[in-house]
Amino acid sequence: MAPKGVAVLGSTGSIGTTALRVLDRQRNRFEVRALTANSNGALLREQVRQFAPAFVGMVEPNSNGDDAWRTGTDALVGAATRDDVDIVLNAIVGAAGLDATLAALEQGKRVALANKETLVIAGDLVQQACSSGSGEVIPVDSEHSAILQCITGHPASQVRRVVLTASGGPFRDWTPERLAKATVEDALRHPTWRMGRKVTIDSATLANKALEVIEAHFLFGLPYDRIEVVVHPQSVVHSFVEFIDGSVVAQMSVPTMELPILYSLTHPDRVEYDGVPPFDPVKLSPMTYEPVNHERFPALRLGIAAGKKGGAAPAVFNAANECAVAAFLAGKITFADIPRAISSALDKLADLPSGDREQLLAADAAARRHVQQMLKC
Ligand code: NAD
Ligand code: MG
Repeated sequence: MAPKGVAVLGSTGSIGTTALRVLDRQRNRFEVRALTANSNGALLREQVRQFAPAFVGMVEPNSNGDDAWRTGTDALVGAATRDDVDIVLNAIVGAAGLDATLAALEQGKRVALANKETLVIAGDLVQQACSSGSGEVIPVDSEHSAILQCITGHPASQVRRVVLTASGGPFRDWTPERLAKATVEDALRHPTWRMGRKVTIDSATLANKALEVIEAHFLFGLPYDRIEVVVHPQSVVHSFVEFIDGSVVAQMSVPTMELPILYSLTHPDRVEYDGVPPFDPVKLSPMTYEPVNHERFPALRLGIAAGKKGGAAPAVFNAANECAVAAFLAGKITFADIPRAISSALDKLADLPSGDREQLLAADAAARRHVQQMLKC
């Protein structure tokens, strides 16, 4: 069979580079036809040398770029809508990934989605785009890949509930007093995953799990009262699915993004892959579970409430979080300011209109302005 064409958006990031490692081992099945990055021209140039894609885009041109590369945000949609691309692996971080997802779906492509923010901002629009054409979203996020792997072959009516696992992040067992003084360096020290800076901070606040609950709601059409979260510090079980007969199926592996990335490309099939070490349940023991501490990590509850409210609320939650996380990473605000900013933005802006992309992006912009004014950052 002819290889499938893949566009990797955000190819220089944590997911992007892992995806290229997976694709490099699957050259008979997949061909990298487009690559995009934000500004890391040096790494992008190296990737272009390795994969020779037909299309290269760099949003912010700089001296490490190449005259033949497309620049500006149009390059993302350009890569996502090419005729020679079958699968768009969206590994962009943040709201910047939205338009490429929507454009790829409109063209009937598979979107292998790491960019969970897309579904949080515009879950309804994504669902509409999928149901009105032949486009589909296959999750890259490990928890959602796990759920998909567990439910494939079963109708949605047979699923009673899903339980997403959360590592608990670096502050799982910190006291409130210690947490109040947490530094950027502390927050970036994730116990089980090596990821980009934004999602690492989201994992420390548990905002990431809120984004994932909303993501699960839209991906699997589940009401919020059938999506639960449990802390599992070892990150070996990636999620549980309980079926209507009471049986529970879980998906496990060592913590690696290679497997969910590969599955997003091959679903519903599986292909041979020797990129990860063999599964050793004894070495991975013990596997433990504990409840979420909502008092210490208020961002999770705020995000789930925003998801339940719907409309513009999830977009406001996401934008306030993105803005606050950027300020925290820049050393301008404290760790506790992040949920404070989210809560304040939701109080003020959750009822903004949300009927289309423009209104959702206006809510996103209003939330960012609100957080900047509130935190003076
Ligand atoms: P990262 O910061 O390492 O990489 C982000 C990529 O997006 C880079 O290639 C960067 O060039 C590009 N980018 C950043 N801003 C951009 C912009 N404005 N326009 C266009 N491109 C831009 O992030 P990551 O950890 O790879 O995460 C990417 C996405 O995957 C996030 O949504 C994250 O939540 C999700 N995710 C990541 C992991 C992980 O293990 N890293 C796991 C699950 C989900
Ligand atoms: Mg995840």
